[in-house]
Amino acid sequence: MNVQQPPVRDDLAAMVGYHSPQVDVSIRLNTNESPQPPPAGFRQAITDAVAELDWNRYPNRSAVALRTAIAAFHGVDLGQVFAANGSNEVLQTLLLTYGGPGRRVVTFEPTYALHSHIATIVGTKVVKGERDHKFRLDSTHAVDVVTEAKPIITFLCSPNNPTGLAEDPELVDRVLAAVIATGGLLVVDEAYAEFASWTSLDRVDESVPLVVTRTFSKTWSMAAARLGYMVGPSWVTDKLEAVVLPYHLDAVTQAAGLAALNFVDDMNDRVANIVRERERILAAFERLPVECWNSQSIFVLFRPTEQDGNAVWQKLLDRDVLVRNCATWPGLDGCLRVTIGTEQENDVFLGALTEILGAESAQGARP
Ligand SMILES: *Cc1c(COP(=O)(O)O)cnc(C)c1O
Repeated sequence: MNVQQPPVRDDLAAMVGYHSPQVDVSIRLNTNESPQPPPAGFRQAITDAVAELDWNRYPNRSAVALRTAIAAFHGVDLGQVFAANGSNEVLQTLLLTYGGPGRRVVTFEPTYALHSHIATIVGTKVVKGERDHKFRLDSTHAVDVVTEAKPIITFLCSPNNPTGLAEDPELVDRVLAAVIATGGLLVVDEAYAEFASWTSLDRVDESVPLVVTRTFSKTWSMAAARLGYMVGPSWVTDKLEAVVLPYHLDAVTQAAGLAALNFVDDMNDRVANIVRERERILAAFERLPVECWNSQSIFVLFRPTEQDGNAVWQKLLDRDVLVRNCATWPGLDGCLRVTIGTEQENDVFLGALTEILGAESAQGARP
């Protein structure tokens, strides 16, 4: 039967969705998830909380208990925290609230694709500044782009995905000054800040147009739950609460976040372990024919120098190791991104890569 399919919005007709291909392999190092499950006590705490839920009632609409716990964790006010279904929903709500037709946002490419993707979906023009060939962002260029475009939102991502590089504090301060001068909002996406040496969180203040987004997906081993949040001025939170769907954050997710915050020490141990493994991989890369970037995140971006990136990706897959193929992404010619796995997974990855690149053993001594 033929039906006339109603056309989607003109500006979305050519859009392709955001995809992260999943392949059935034994070593999955492609989507920046934590390699470890949450602590056993966390599972039990959630099970207990779910058993107690009032299933016939809507959840607490503004997630007060969860936001109170997050606020205490960061030493900010309840009113300065907005929580949602993953930091992606935080980004979407920010863009629904501040973006839209006739408005502009600024990104610095290459960076996290969803900043420009969601902006486009809500009809906001994206002005793209650029990083240099080493993926560093020149602060004068950044200030010029903001000053000229006068965006409603400027996005930074620190550490940046997919490069792994953290921005310098001076860069953030200069961009923030330009954002203040042009009447916009600075959003620093800190999905990976726990793995980095510094955070913009201490710059958050009622009188500063800065919000910092965080997620439970990576650090907290909770990608399955979809929970993220932002810390920013309460006048931003109030507007986001007015725009987001009522009861968007279900009771199970709220309970999961509350339970997780009782396991801060376990989380810190996991982060320390991942950072140790990351440094081991970076050290191993020095002995391989690859160019790599000094990651402060849960992944490392690298570029084979003697073989094509696509070919290396396929050869890794042939050895049952899946990494992210960024080789054809704009500005990322030939690059691959590997998520830090468990010690065993990293050994398999390094062994396979060493074999593929025809190098001497790169694994080195383990502590
Ligand atoms: C993974 C990721 C997110 C999304 O996290 P969710 O909380 O799972 O939605 C946001 N920003 C960056 C840079 C990421 O890499």
